[in-house]
Amino acid sequence: RICYVNGQFVSESNANISIFDRGFLFADSVYEVNLVLHKALIDSQGHLTRLAYSLNEVGIPMPMPQDELMAIQRAIIEKNQLVHGAIYLQVTRGQDADRDFLPSKTIQPNVVIIPQPKNLLENPLADLGIRVMAFPEIRWAKRNIKSTGLLGAVLAKQAAVDNGFDDAWFIEAGLVTEGSANNAFIIKGNRLITKAPNAQILNGITRRAILTMATTHGLTLEERDFSLDEAKSADEAFVTSATMLVIPVIQIDETIIGDGKPGALTKQMRQIYLDTGLNHQLP
Ligand code: PMP
Repeated sequence: RICYVNGQFVSESNANISIFDRGFLFADSVYEVNLVLHKALIDSQGHLTRLAYSLNEVGIPMPMPQDELMAIQRAIIEKNQLVHGAIYLQVTRGQDADRDFLPSKTIQPNVVIIPQPKNLLENPLADLGIRVMAFPEIRWAKRNIKSTGLLGAVLAKQAAVDNGFDDAWFIEAGLVTEGSANNAFIIKGNRLITKAPNAQILNGITRRAILTMATTHGLTLEERDFSLDEAKSADEAFVTSATMLVIPVIQIDETIIGDGKPGALTKQMRQIYLDTGLNHQLP
């Protein structure tokens, strides 16, 4: 793979970052995962706007204008002949001379961009659905910032897989916040229910696209908290993310959702997302 590191395109074996990088030492960094389908960036503007938001929230300067980041991502697609997959983009606060919580004022952000080829369109989980395990919300309080401090998500995912599940849903005070790396949705009748965006969740780019599509396809939208119990009694459930797109949830803990197969409306949501995927417009 050809990657981008601080102004240079390099092979992955030559892509190096200092051991004093603050992203490495403190997870003092933010990231984005941009979707690529048919060699095109999907909702890239949304991802870059969210990157700018994350950077601003933690006081890391935007390393370059958004259109330059866009151009680098396009170059990564070309240099790697990337057809379907993701582009991982990370900006750290930079590196100091030594490990110190207080960053020096003169450091420059480190920017790393990595292509991740994957046939996201033919994901077997789209037909199988996934089984999710409820897991206590152990992450920090600012989950609307896309920080690389992901230990909570790693532990949740590991626990889920160790227990025979595919993924975890975080539970806070009996309420579902989101999946380990995706947003959680339930459907009851023709009502699509998902948590309203606040600091408890990452406001997914795919989530926003789905909400726009859902209302134009006759679903009633309820952006509100929902409990684990309500989720278990839902007709359908699914998760969204840039790399999963829309993936049905067929089981939560020991409870089978609906008839244990991907729900009809969920499948429709995935299809609509794919059909319109190259022209997503965020509100
Ligand atoms: N929530 C979390 C915690 C995530 O890590 C992700 C994926 N980055 C999402 C939601 C989904 O966001 P998006 O649709 O922008 O990929």
